[in-house]
Amino acid sequence: MREDTRRLLLSLAHPDDESFGMGGTIARYVDEGVEVYLICATNGELGAADPEFLEKYGSVTELRLAELRCAAEKLGITRIYTLGYRDSGMAGSPDNAHPDSLAAADPDEVAGRVTEIIREVRPQVVVTFDPFGGYGHPDHIAMHRATVRAFHAAPDPTQYPEQIEAGLQPYRPRKLYYHTFDRRWLRFAVRVMPLLGQNPEQFGRNKDINLRVIAAHEYPIHARIAFDRYTEIARQARDCHASQLAGFARPGPLQWLRHLLETNEDTFMRAYPPVNGAYECERDLFEGVHTDAGQ
Ligand SMILES: [Zn+2]
Repeated sequence: MREDTRRLLLSLAHPDDESFGMGGTIARYVDEGVEVYLICATNGELGAADPEFLEKYGSVTELRLAELRCAAEKLGITRIYTLGYRDSGMAGSPDNAHPDSLAAADPDEVAGRVTEIIREVRPQVVVTFDPFGGYGHPDHIAMHRATVRAFHAAPDPTQYPEQIEAGLQPYRPRKLYYHTFDRRWLRFAVRVMPLLGQNPEQFGRNKDINLRVIAAHEYPIHARIAFDRYTEIARQARDCHASQLAGFARPGPLQWLRHLLETNEDTFMRAYPPVNGAYECERDLFEGVHTDAGQ
């Protein structure tokens, strides 16, 4: 693998996290010559899908992985690593305890698989969810924890030594970011929704998202990645996940809220190197990362 190539690894949980969370950022970096690798830990089998979307596919898993391949192609993702865990469902659902679910998996094992991918891909920059998983999804939180652990394990040959014995080299990525979002609009929405007859504590097609709790979990924003020129590609990638868009596509307050939350920049908290005290907001996740190509 050439050391002069910039590589970005996204460590996520579901087929659609890449497009709904940071499609614009991915499209921009791919266009700038960065190789983007994606870990998708679950098959997303609990993403509600109307029967019309299932006609061509044998299962929700097949449907959602096909949607992921569609999005990855639009975005120009170099490679997808699927870990094959079962979607754990929203917090508190009985699916959390399913033996194959990511939430029930041994954290050592999940972190080991992420470590192996970091050692193989050798990304300078790693991105995962914030500690609350954006909106509290158990799979997002599990991947946050596994990725933080793997980020620090990958350079240490005493961690998962069987991978070193198998020929992988220890590797230290330079930077770790958490994808997060500005809660200001959300706090506004939480106040306005009751006026529109919506309950912010029972949001989404399954009414299992509590916007009030999400608004209360706030993380600092250390990097803003503008993707004005890539909004069309980001939209095409989102549209690949048609089965998941159904609830949002219906006209009404939800659509209004979606437009409200749409911006032309993705926002990230920098976890490593740690930000101490005052900081200037970064505009590039690779800021300060030097490769042989002299970035
Ligand atoms: Zn997700």
